[in-house]
Amino acid sequence: NRKFHPADTVVDCGHGVLIGGGSFQVMAGPCSVEGDNLLAIAREVKEAGATMLRGGAFKPRTSPYANQGMGAEGLRLLHEAGTELGMPVVTEIMDARDVQLFEDMEVDVLQVGARNMQNFTLLKELGKLRRPVLLKRGMSATIDEWLMSAEYIMAGGNENVVLCERGVRTFETRTRNTFDTNAIAVAHHLSHLPVVGDPSHATGYTRYVVSAALAATAAGADGLEIEVHDRPEHAWSDGAQALTPKQFRNAMRRIELVRQAV
Ligand code: PEP
Ligand code: MN
Repeated sequence: NRKFHPADTVVDCGHGVLIGGGSFQVMAGPCSVEGDNLLAIAREVKEAGATMLRGGAFKPRTSPYANQGMGAEGLRLLHEAGTELGMPVVTEIMDARDVQLFEDMEVDVLQVGARNMQNFTLLKELGKLRRPVLLKRGMSATIDEWLMSAEYIMAGGNENVVLCERGVRTFETRTRNTFDTNAIAVAHHLSHLPVVGDPSHATGYTRYVVSAALAATAAGADGLEIEVHDRPEHAWSDGAQALTPKQFRNAMRRIELVRQAV
């Protein structure tokens, strides 16, 4: 924590992209990698100012009958798009047994999803690597529990951890989750790690994503993770919260204005 580590950690995500300590990065792309549309979406988000490409290949779906993602083939498509466009890729790892596969596929940033925030076996394995880890806050996790999960990774020697606030579960049903912008300021106060906001999962609806993105930016987030899809109504997952590339371009303009104001 800050007592032992007063300076902000800056995490090198690859391809020259740094996050933290004043470097603000936007990671954008589809919830699920679905095939050839990935490269087209990646081009659009890069053009709009995103510096990192996100996409899920291994998907933690609530229902076992829902599409579980492309798996290794999805990692290959991400690597291809990231290499072609010079963007680091961030993608979710669910299972400690997949670490070698993710290494072989040269995944730049390993995302630990909300559902796996306390998968301690996975966290310990990631602690042995030097690859950056994007650690999402669990849907019912306190800030202290979230920070302790980051400690699990760092205790193994991997200090390249980026925290991600993605909303928590509350009594409210009008949004998918309740975005805890407080957590961004609190995590910055207590921890030296970069903190990003995920307005997509935090709200669950396209119409609310931009306001949450602006709020996270104003609250001092070091970056954002935003879901973008070329045809949200056909998305394999989370289409209801996806921005189209055009909506994303507009959002980026407004995010930049808030960045300049704060
Ligand atoms: C995702 O990023 O697509 C995802 C599943 O996020 P979370 O773990 O925050 O629900
Ligand atoms: Mn998603």
